Amino acid sequence: MVIYDEKQQEIAEKINPKAIISNWKDWKWQLKNSIKDISTFERLTGIKFEKKKRALLEQTVAKFPLSITPYYLSLIDTTDYKNDPFFLQSFPSPSELIVEKYDMIDPLSEDRDSPVTGIIHRYPDRVLFHISNICSMYCRHCTRKRKVGDIDSIPGKDDIAKGIEYIRNTPVVRDVLLSGGDPFMLSDNYLDWILTELQKIPHVEVIRIGTRMPVVLPYRITNELVAMLKKHHPLWINTHFNHPRAITDSSIEALRKLADAGIPLGNQTVLLAGVNDCPRIMKRLVHRLVQNRVRPYYLYQCDLSEGLSHFRTPVGKGIEIMESLIGHTSGFAVPTYVIDAPGGGGKIPVMPNYLISWSTNKVVLRNYEGVITTYKEPDSYEPIFCDRNCKSCKLQLKLDGAEEKHAIGIEKLLSDYDDAISLIPENNDRMDRRSERKDYE
Ligand code: SF4
Repeated sequence: MVIYDEKQQEIAEKINPKAIISNWKDWKWQLKNSIKDISTFERLTGIKFEKKKRALLEQTVAKFPLSITPYYLSLIDTTDYKNDPFFLQSFPSPSELIVEKYDMIDPLSEDRDSPVTGIIHRYPDRVLFHISNICSMYCRHCTRKRKVGDIDSIPGKDDIAKGIEYIRNTPVVRDVLLSGGDPFMLSDNYLDWILTELQKIPHVEVIRIGTRMPVVLPYRITNELVAMLKKHHPLWINTHFNHPRAITDSSIEALRKLADAGIPLGNQTVLLAGVNDCPRIMKRLVHRLVQNRVRPYYLYQCDLSEGLSHFRTPVGKGIEIMESLIGHTSGFAVPTYVIDAPGGGGKIPVMPNYLISWSTNKVVLRNYEGVITTYKEPDSYEPIFCDRNCKSCKLQLKLDGAEEKHAIGIEKLLSDYDDAISLIPENNDRMDRRSERKDYE
């Protein structure tokens, strides 16, 4: 009996002595045999925890559930597990029980920006739609720890229908991001139904799916799933690789199937202390991603969710990583480093400073090598006055009615047609949507 490698074979045999290669590659077998308790983890890995530590681990699992696929377990280096990136991302740590002063249960205020169950409407033209709250593996650094894995809040078909109804009745929504939990925990048929219903809505221009399956359970990317997804273009997929070692032969195969189906792939990495807080690891990761047709999209500063304090790094670590990427490697391999605003303001990009100074006709810049240079601005530039009447504008944009009704944020302060001299967040659409939610009055 040959499975993949010796380690996978050993794990499979410990799970079931009769396991064969097709079992290991069967995503349902993987799910059925996911490790959900400390004893099974100990039995399969040979790692033993002493009594006091074990009690703390049990306490942690009671608060934040444990689930590791046999596949992901096979990536753990048991000879140095305490420093292993896969162990740290999948196995509970008693540090999760520590609640720091600035920790929050819902740091991004998702519940406040939720007009109906499952929908988060934070940005002007797009929504996040939680269609599942279970995952094949529960990442210890998950920002939605409060909900993910809670079997009492699995969205039912009625909830999903209400979410679709909200999108149907909200014409500003042109982009829907299906998230969770992991949307690929749903069956192909159910997902097909959701995608079909969303695509019937004329103002939905694009659908995105956020999934960690290529990382934690690549066998979920079956030919059948891909054939179904292919019917629903334009469809984009974002996945979540945090470490270059996670890009294995199996995950490469999953990514290849998705990319060959014409699905643009992006990756969101979370900056995690002890896992990937190193410029060299990050550079290797982004190179491995683009080699496999995955565009590094975001590098996230770890959120202020409860139980994540041991994973957080100073923001300076992220800046240092960006400094080591920008200019040092291909531009399309560089993600945008973001802090998701506590309280729900959305993602805020942060990066090293390249603009050193400026005068009325020159800017002074520095490059990645430390070269300091000047860019001379034009002596004569005729600004185009914009009164938002695109029909009479000489730029001839012919926007077919796609013009935005009004400007938001700094854009408003910079505009010619708005007299605003300061920003009053209370008056924006997001705050209006929140105020319509009576349960928060
Ligand atoms: S796959 Fe995503 S939603 Fe699920 S536990 Fe991991 S980070 Fe959280």
